[in-house]
Amino acid sequence: MGQQRHWELSGIKDERVIQAMGRVPRHLFVPEEQSEFAYEDRALPIEHGQTISQPFVVAAMTEALGVGKDARVLEVGGGSGYQAAVLAEIVQHVYSIEIDPRLAEQARQRLEELGYHNVSMRSGDGYAGWVEEAPFDAIIVAAAAEDIPPPLMDQLKDGGRLVIPLGTPGGAQELFVVEKDGATVTTKSLMAVRFVPFRRSVEQE
Ligand code: SAH
Repeated sequence: MGQQRHWELSGIKDERVIQAMGRVPRHLFVPEEQSEFAYEDRALPIEHGQTISQPFVVAAMTEALGVGKDARVLEVGGGSGYQAAVLAEIVQHVYSIEIDPRLAEQARQRLEELGYHNVSMRSGDGYAGWVEEAPFDAIIVAAAAEDIPPPLMDQLKDGGRLVIPLGTPGGAQELFVVEKDGATVTTKSLMAVRFVPFRRSVEQE
C-alpha cells in the first residue's frame, strides 16, 4: 500500500507530533473514493458534508496543545476520528465529542478496530464540554465558532491550553491558542484557517 506522505510539516518542531503523524493511517479515515488523496497535505470531504482537516493543521494544533503522555485531552468535533487518533498516539486519553451521531458511531468503530483504546468518542453538542470527565489538560476544537464556549474555559485546567478556530462561518477565521493561568487568560493567533462551522444541532438530510 503506497503510504508515502506528501506533506512536509515545515515549522513543526515537536518530534512526538511528527512521529504520530507518520503512524496514523489517514487513508482509513476518509471515504474510499478519497483514499488516493489521503497522503496529500489538504483537507478532504468526509461523510455528511463534513471534512477531515489538512494534515499540517492537525500537526500544528496538536503541537500547540503542548501536552505529553500524562495528559487527558478533550476534542470537540470528532469528525472522522483522525485528529483524535493523532492525539491518542501522544497523550494518555482523548475524550471526543461529535455532534453528528452517524459520524460519531463511524469514528468510534474505526478507532476501536485500529486499536485506539485510549479514545472515548460520544455524540452530542460539544458546546457544553464533557462535565463528567473535566477538568482537562488541554482542549481542541475542530469547528469554527464565533466565540469561545464558556463551559470549555471552565473545564480547562489551570495552566492548560485551548486551541480553537474563531471567525465567521465560511469567512475569515484564525486559529487561536488560549492559555488559562488562574484568572488570567492569554490569547495568541497562530494562523489563518478555514474550518466547517460550529453547529448547535444537526439537520438530518
Ligand atoms: N477532527 C476532525 C475534523 C472534523 S470537521 C477530523 O479529524 O476528522 C469538524 C467536526 O465538528 C464535524 O464533524 C462537525 O460535525 C463537528 N461539530 C460541529 N459543531 C459541533 C459541536 N457543537 N459539537 C461537536 N461537534 C461539532
